[in-house]
Amino acid sequence: MKILQQQSKNSWASIIFLLLRNDSAMRSVSFKDFSLKESLLKAIADSGFEHPSEVQQECIPKTAYGDDILAQSKSGMGKTAIYVLGILNRMEEEPLTETGPQAIVLTHTRELAFQAAKEFVRFGKYLPKIKTYVIYGGISIEDQKKKLKEDQPHILIGTPGRMATLVKNKSLVLDKVKYFVIDECDQMLKETGIHLYIIIDIREDVQYVFCRTPRNKQVMMLSATLPKELREICKKFLRVNAFEVFIDNEAKLTLHGLKQFLVKLEEKEKNRKLVELLDNTQFVQVIIFVNSTVRAKLLSSLLRQHNFPAVAMHGDLRQEERLIRYKQFKECKTVIMISTDIFGRGVDIDKIDFVINYDLPRDSDTYMHRVGRAGRFGTKGLAVSFVATKEDEELMGKVQERFEIKVPVYPDKPDTAVLSTCL
Ligand code: ADP
Repeated sequence: MKILQQQSKNSWASIIFLLLRNDSAMRSVSFKDFSLKESLLKAIADSGFEHPSEVQQECIPKTAYGDDILAQSKSGMGKTAIYVLGILNRMEEEPLTETGPQAIVLTHTRELAFQAAKEFVRFGKYLPKIKTYVIYGGISIEDQKKKLKEDQPHILIGTPGRMATLVKNKSLVLDKVKYFVIDECDQMLKETGIHLYIIIDIREDVQYVFCRTPRNKQVMMLSATLPKELREICKKFLRVNAFEVFIDNEAKLTLHGLKQFLVKLEEKEKNRKLVELLDNTQFVQVIIFVNSTVRAKLLSSLLRQHNFPAVAMHGDLRQEERLIRYKQFKECKTVIMISTDIFGRGVDIDKIDFVINYDLPRDSDTYMHRVGRAGRFGTKGLAVSFVATKEDEELMGKVQERFEIKVPVYPDKPDTAVLSTCL
C-alpha cells in the first residue's frame, strides 16, 4: 500500500514503531508493540486478534499516544479498533460525577453506532468502570435525557442529528470531551444527505456538536473513501500535526479475497436471475442492495413468496424493528437481507460472503463500500452486480478504471472451481 503520511510529534511509541517499519518487521508486528495497557492486550487476545492489519500498524501507535489521525484504508481492515483502542488506552477510568462524556463518537447510521459500542465493550472488558452509551433518533428522547442526567457515560456514541438535539436542549454538555471520532467521515461531511426523501445536512449537525467541545482534544477521522476535495474539509477538524494515511492509488482499495462479477440483463429479467443465483450459489449470508425503500419491501416479499427467508432493511422501519433485524442478521439468524444503502457502509457482519447489487448505485464510492460488506479482513467473498441500463454500464466502466480491476461477466454455469475460490 502506498501510504502518504505526515509525521506528527514523535512519541517514544512512534519512534520504536518506525524503527520496526520494514517489510518483514511489518508482518511480525504485534499488538504488544503499541504501548497499550495490559487490560487492553488481554481483551485483544480474548478477541482472537493475532496481528494488527497494516492500517492498524500505522495508526494505533498514534491514537494510543494521543495524536489526531485522518485515516483512509480499504473496507474491513479494522478501522474501528484504531479509535476504540486509542481512546480506551488513554481514558481515565474514574467514575464520573456530573461532568459529561470524555469521548464522542459520531456515526452515520444507528446500527453503526450500536456496532461501535459493542467494540468498546469488547475491548473494555477489563476496564469495568468505563461506561458506554448509544444515542440515536427514532426513539424517545426523554429516556436518553434521563440516562444522561442520572448515569453519565464516559463514551457517548451516536448519530449527529440526535446528538445535536441533546446539546441544543442542554441535556448534553460537551465541555469535558477529550476524544472525538468521526467515522465514515467523508459521508458525514458531505454537504447534504437524503433521508426518507428529505434533504438533511449531516455536516451542519457534525459541526454543531464539534464546536461545542473543547478546542484541545484528540480527533480521529476514518473512512475507506476519502475524495481529495473532502480531505481539506476534514483537516479543518484536526490539529496541525495530525497523522494522515491516504490511499492515493485507488487500485489499492480492492479487497483481495473478493471476486467481482457482473450480469448483463434487462430490468424485467432481474428477479429470475436473482432467484437462479440464490438457488445455485453456496453462501453463508447474502446482502442484496436495491436503490429504494419501495424496492426493498417489494423484493423481500417476492423472495418470501418463493420460499427464500428474506428480510428487508430500509429507513421506513421503526427504530426498534431496525435494530432487531440488524441483530438477527449479525447473529446469522437471517440469511438473506435486502437492503438500501443503510447497510452500504461500515456495517460489519463477518459471515456475509455474498453481495448482490440488484440495483447498481449511482457512484463508484458507494459501489466499493457495498461490495466491501463481503471479503472482510482477508476473508473470501463473491460480489455480483446486475447491469441493466446505460448508466449501470457507465458505472461499471468507471469502477473498473478507477480501481484498476477487471469485473468479468458472471458465467451462466459457473465452474465450481471458480466459485470455490470465492466462497
Ligand atoms: P473497517 O472499519 O475497516 O471496515 P472493521 O473495524 O469493521 O473494519 O473490522 C472488520 C472486521 O475485522 C471486524 O469483524 C473486526 O472484528 C475484525 N478485525 C479487526 N482487526 C482485526 C485483527 N487485527 N485481527 C483479526 N480480526 C480483526
